[in-house]
Amino acid sequence: MYPFRFQRPLSETETYTALTSSPTARAIAGGTTLVDLMRDTVERPDLVVDINPLPWRAVETTGRGLRIGALARMSDVAATPGLAASHRVLVEALLASAAPQIRNMASIGGNLMQRTRCPYFRDPAVSQCNKKTHNAGCAAIGGYNREHAIFGTSDQCVATHPSDLAVALLALDAQLVLRSRNGERRSMLEEFMLLPGGTPMREHDIIPGELIAAVEIPANALGRQSRYIKIRDRGSFEFALVSAAVALDMRGGTVHGARIAVGGVGTKPWRLRQVESALVGFPINEDRLNLAMNHVAIGAKPLAENGFKVELLKRTLKRTIHEAGAIA
Ligand code: SF4
Repeated sequence: MYPFRFQRPLSETETYTALTSSPTARAIAGGTTLVDLMRDTVERPDLVVDINPLPWRAVETTGRGLRIGALARMSDVAATPGLAASHRVLVEALLASAAPQIRNMASIGGNLMQRTRCPYFRDPAVSQCNKKTHNAGCAAIGGYNREHAIFGTSDQCVATHPSDLAVALLALDAQLVLRSRNGERRSMLEEFMLLPGGTPMREHDIIPGELIAAVEIPANALGRQSRYIKIRDRGSFEFALVSAAVALDMRGGTVHGARIAVGGVGTKPWRLRQVESALVGFPINEDRLNLAMNHVAIGAKPLAENGFKVELLKRTLKRTIHEAGAIA
């Protein structure tokens, strides 16, 4: 690891001043993402700014719905009384993430800012990576790509987004509250996460010195009948091969509204709107599910080693919709 300076500002203003004092300054909360990246030398900040003194840990109900402070720890959010009943998909995604020790440390904001687990990206010996170096090429496109994306890829990068939480939040129409020395703004999570396109190094719609302060989930009927199912190579402490977050608004046995987001398959958490449309207005039964699954692979571009994800995604999603629909 390279030498760096460490600073713990005691006010929000001092925090923004520190974060904008150097182009390589980085914020740290739980450290479960940044320290790994520093060890791998992917991130080489000259200044690490501890943002833990900021008062952003509460999980509360406001006039806008559910508000989760960005510095709340994943395990604390998962254990929030009543959350498993009101937003089951969120709790299931949190508990499917990493391992208990990491969830105890990792913050909500840090989880959303985590970077890809593409092995080429994290290997200091590999230079052929457009996400590390502009126009360096992509070792995964012609190399090992079993775990990589089938949606949202470009000829520059095919890496998946690793967060389970972000997939669940996408299915709940979440937006982010972003704060900086210029004030506060809001961004829908789907727009905050960027496609690689020709600039895979730019992953989030965030400006230097800006921080995620909170996540807001609107009050609606979607959270209660929701589920998150994650398929991975081993039972815990593993990233998704595919995952599905489903949130349904069921009325009289018919789907009135649906949100479907999938993970492990996209360069960012991926919404399947055509599957949603195929469900709305109908009861959930085998025929309707099979019909809806015809829309899953629209736009998918499998690579040499990850074509299996298309069928795996269909089966995972079908099961997730079925189980969400069966919640009484
Ligand atoms: Fe780098 Fe993206 Fe290619 Fe992985 S998929 S090697 S992160 S450019």
